[in-house]
Amino acid sequence: MRIEYDIKLGFKDVMIRPKRSTIKSRSQVTLEREFKFLHSPLLWKGVPIMAANMDTVGTFNMAKALSQKKIFTAIHKHYPLNDWKAFLSNFQEEDYHYIAVSTGIGKQDSEKLSAIIQNNPSLQFICIDVANGYSEYFAEFVKRTRDQYPDKVIIAGNVVTGEMVEELLLSGADIVKVGIGPGSVCTTRVKTGVGYPQLSAIIECSDAAHGLGGQIISDGGCSHPGDIAKAFGAGADFVMLGGMLAGHDESGGEIVQRNGQSFRKFYGMSSATAMNKHTGGIAEYRASEGKTVEIPYKGDVESTIQDILGGLRSTCTYVGAARLKELTKRTTFIRVNEQENRTYSE
Ligand code: 5GP
Repeated sequence: MRIEYDIKLGFKDVMIRPKRSTIKSRSQVTLEREFKFLHSPLLWKGVPIMAANMDTVGTFNMAKALSQKKIFTAIHKHYPLNDWKAFLSNFQEEDYHYIAVSTGIGKQDSEKLSAIIQNNPSLQFICIDVANGYSEYFAEFVKRTRDQYPDKVIIAGNVVTGEMVEELLLSGADIVKVGIGPGSVCTTRVKTGVGYPQLSAIIECSDAAHGLGGQIISDGGCSHPGDIAKAFGAGADFVMLGGMLAGHDESGGEIVQRNGQSFRKFYGMSSATAMNKHTGGIAEYRASEGKTVEIPYKGDVESTIQDILGGLRSTCTYVGAARLKELTKRTTFIRVNEQENRTYSE
């Protein structure tokens, strides 16, 4: 046994210090970024925010709404082939930049992935997603996927430490997804005791990825626009959101009426709800590692997106970053013991 005494930080442990700035207005800030990838020859341009591949977030309807804003959706892996066909029949060529097909690492997963891509060779992004990206088998799966799809952009995760980011990039991933346990409907940290505070995970993993010419996605733990700004400030290239994009018209999830108010169901992909729905129950050898919650209905996702992008532009003006790309360089975090004033919060 060993103990690391360096304190690791989450979003709630820091704030971004303001800096002298020459930017007059938030409208002068550009949030679009351009990326070249480590393996894929594709060039990507857009706003590097992603809807999570959860079936109450990363839906086809979410992709339709977000792609218009050049925002990315990792489509959840549970759509049947026919639904993919129907969805893509109305999708424009340029919108393919803003969606990924998600897959697990089982035999059936990879067969379904091949079928989806064979039917739609214009799909450019593959998201290989497992809760625990530390298994040797996972890195081998990434390698095989890279051999099979040399031109696609491969996202792989989740991990939280630099050495595993490097291993996945060297195995063929272009982008590594970072986050174990920070998610709003995740119970991994309480069920297993395993995890890593998200801000430190981003700082350490982005450093490892950028050293090799790869990118990272900060996945999970953002509950306010300010957390997204902190994730970018810490070095994330992309930020993935679950809970913040759940509960909208586009999110999917059963609608529940109670006392005249509407709620939408939102659940973790390892929750009992998800396992009952997609795999016929919880296997005998495992426990649920996700929650099921009902969140007040939030309407159209457009207003949430405006709130997020407005917040991010404002962060950039506070620190003098004319482009989102400059935010990390312009960020100094201060350690804090307080966040917002909650006098009028419930
Ligand atoms: P959020 O933005 O809601 O804080 O986090 C979203 C992320 O939580 C997802 O992208 C995914 O990585 C993670 N997640 C989703 N479902 C589950 C689950 O059931 N268990 C765990 N441990 N993590 C989950």
